[in-house]
Amino acid sequence: MKYIVTGGAGFIGSHMIEAIAGSHEVVVIDNFSSGKRENLSLFGDSITAIQGSITDLPVLRDAFQGAEGIFHLGAIASVARSVSDPVATHETNLSGTLNVLLAARDCGVRKVVFASSSAIYGDEPTLPKREVMPPVPLSPYAVSKLAGEYYCTVFSELFGVKTVSLRYFNVFGPRQDPNSEYAAVIPKFITRFLDTKPPIIYGDGLQSRDFVYVKDVVRANMLAMQSSVTGTFNIGSGKSIDLNTLASTIGEIMHVRIPPIYEEPRSGDIRNSVSDITAAKKILGYETSYSLEKGLAETISWFRHQKSGTHKNLSQ
Ligand code: NAD
Repeated sequence: MKYIVTGGAGFIGSHMIEAIAGSHEVVVIDNFSSGKRENLSLFGDSITAIQGSITDLPVLRDAFQGAEGIFHLGAIASVARSVSDPVATHETNLSGTLNVLLAARDCGVRKVVFASSSAIYGDEPTLPKREVMPPVPLSPYAVSKLAGEYYCTVFSELFGVKTVSLRYFNVFGPRQDPNSEYAAVIPKFITRFLDTKPPIIYGDGLQSRDFVYVKDVVRANMLAMQSSVTGTFNIGSGKSIDLNTLASTIGEIMHVRIPPIYEEPRSGDIRNSVSDITAAKKILGYETSYSLEKGLAETISWFRHQKSGTHKNLSQ
């Protein structure tokens, strides 16, 4: 089978490729705006990498010929960036998604699996988050993901392109970038500890998140691709942890005892988030196979090897 991975040079996309390269023909479309070439060099000649943008419809129409399915992960994946540059987020995330769907339709692609986000739930206090709750997008990023979901549904109904939107919660794992201005908390905490520096927590540390290991997210993508359903599903762990406990858990696994530094809370940060994954379990057969501790241990090991220059980059 031929599969397309948009955003394949990124963190989650590169794990997606790891799961399918070798057993399938894989074509990656990435403009390398946040993705890295080294993430693709892991796969050598077993994949085809196209440097191009999902905003370029002719490129997509060309690449999608003969494809069975599209894992659509390409996006500007930052809430903060969407606030500082809403137009760029709109063009990449929403026009890009529309182009992916148009090209999928025109090329007779069976299925598109779209990377949506828990950001669409906003800060409405009801927990856990269920797919039927009214969305409350609070950023241009969340708007772009929500509208992308709507496009997916409409393309299924109007044109018969099967689509699944997966609302990822907080994904973590090897190859997640700790250095960008908008980096996620787990790679930041790990790299601070590796440098024997205290982790930085914005606010009181009692804000909680649902962290899901990247390999569970990849499995959810595979299940969504294989199923014949169209719909929207939460993909998380179904559990939440506050940032104080997260920092101490990472410290324990790494055998370091450095208390966090607390800084001013960041505006727009939501307080608590946790997924209800009942629908994904029932309809897609999704189960998490990584506890937070097991996922953290693999991630820490990868960052350790990365720091000492001994890792082979592919996750174990
Ligand atoms: P990432 O930034 O590592 O990956 C995004 C990839 O998309 C990068 O390789 C980037 O170069 C590429 N890209 C950006 N603009 C493009 C364009 N115009 N054309 C082609 N490629 C383009 O981010 P990630 O964490 O791997 O996220 C992957 C997807 O999952 C994104 O759609 C993101 O919104 C979604 N998501 C991620 C999380 C998370 O916790 N990491 C949570 C919810 C949703």
